[in-house]
Amino acid sequence: MALSDKDRIFKNLYGFQDWRLAGAKARGAWDNTKALIDKGHDWMIAEVKNSGLRGRGGAGFPTGLKWSFMPKSDPRPNYLVINADESEPGSCKDREIMRHDPHLLIEGALLASFAMRAHASYIYVRGEFVRERERLEAAVAEAYAARLIGKGNIHGWDFDLLIHHGAGAYICGEETALLESLEGKKGMPRLKPPFPANVGLFGAPTTVNNVESIAVVPDILRRGATWFAGIGKPNNTGTKLFQISGHVEKPCVVEEEMGVPLRELLDRHAGGVRGGWNNLLAVIPGGSSMPLLPADICQTLTLDFDTLTKLKSGMGTAAVIVMDKSTDIIAAIRRIAYFYKHESCGQCTPCREGTGWMWRVLQRMERGEAEKREIDLLWDVSTRVEGHTICALGDAAAWPIQGLIRHFRGEIEARIDRRQTEQREAAE
Ligand code: SF4
Repeated sequence: MALSDKDRIFKNLYGFQDWRLAGAKARGAWDNTKALIDKGHDWMIAEVKNSGLRGRGGAGFPTGLKWSFMPKSDPRPNYLVINADESEPGSCKDREIMRHDPHLLIEGALLASFAMRAHASYIYVRGEFVRERERLEAAVAEAYAARLIGKGNIHGWDFDLLIHHGAGAYICGEETALLESLEGKKGMPRLKPPFPANVGLFGAPTTVNNVESIAVVPDILRRGATWFAGIGKPNNTGTKLFQISGHVEKPCVVEEEMGVPLRELLDRHAGGVRGGWNNLLAVIPGGSSMPLLPADICQTLTLDFDTLTKLKSGMGTAAVIVMDKSTDIIAAIRRIAYFYKHESCGQCTPCREGTGWMWRVLQRMERGEAEKREIDLLWDVSTRVEGHTICALGDAAAWPIQGLIRHFRGEIEARIDRRQTEQREAAE
């Protein structure tokens, strides 16, 4: 069943209406926010926990639980940092929130900060998002002017919201690299522990949340945890922004319920697969770091955290990349491998050396120049990169390659055979 209009959170996703404060208020934002704050910190955290909201930035960690890790009485200040460094290839949802409905994010930032006893929050915006940053700044200025945020605001919780513009590095989307960058240092991930809830920004307790995770908070608190938990599937609740790109008739970003069947999502919102469903080759369900799934699995696939994990893929950011049968699947994964090689910060050996090595092997496989035994070798190396690095970029580089070998080993072998036959015939 499709998500009904009354359950939509993002009512101005396409920017057809006014993004400014007046427009946002007409859509329900900032409606008696004080009453929510008056219910207290603990009520707010419990409500978000009960809603079942899982982080929308990729990892899917329960948001309310993450908030509960923040200390309640620490001499250091608490911080909320909002990760708007949306850089995963295929992902393009947070920028729609920032440019078309920025007040959802600003109100969410106030409420989430209050829940975690933070008086200041930072939004770290991706370097390439110049217009989005400008719009966000304009909306924040409106909120200050209306005394919705700031010192002595009408909600009774002093709160400053600061926008920081990144310089355009993918790795700064990793939460600890983001904090380093925010502190004015090179964006390199930190070893964990300590986790940011203990030692985060400027050495103080910090929670880093994705833009979408924060932007849905006002609706959850206003409409109630039960409402949100009633959408989607158990343990995979609520609405979600899906981003559909690649070989579909009408690529788009759309809000749907968690657990929507892939085929329904593509047919209803994206005009279906180019050339029809039978022309589908594979889908990457959650942004380029998630392992691809071949067409036969896609037939009955539902898009939610648990289903995709069981299939050895992942929900990620719900950036659905569709590839039809015209795709050279080895070339596609080789291109993704290049991206992660390029974005590696170089701190750890398996990632720094492994990403380049895997990319070079894939280049040869694409041309059929590799040997078949190298397929297992590539798999082996990918498992030595995965899980052996400081941050998850190592995993992100390994997983797409593992997906390729898991589902398209025959294609790699056929290409090697073809090349060898061509060489033999040429020699003869
Ligand atoms: Fe840097 Fe890669 Fe290590 Fe992450 S895994 S810290 S990106 S070298």
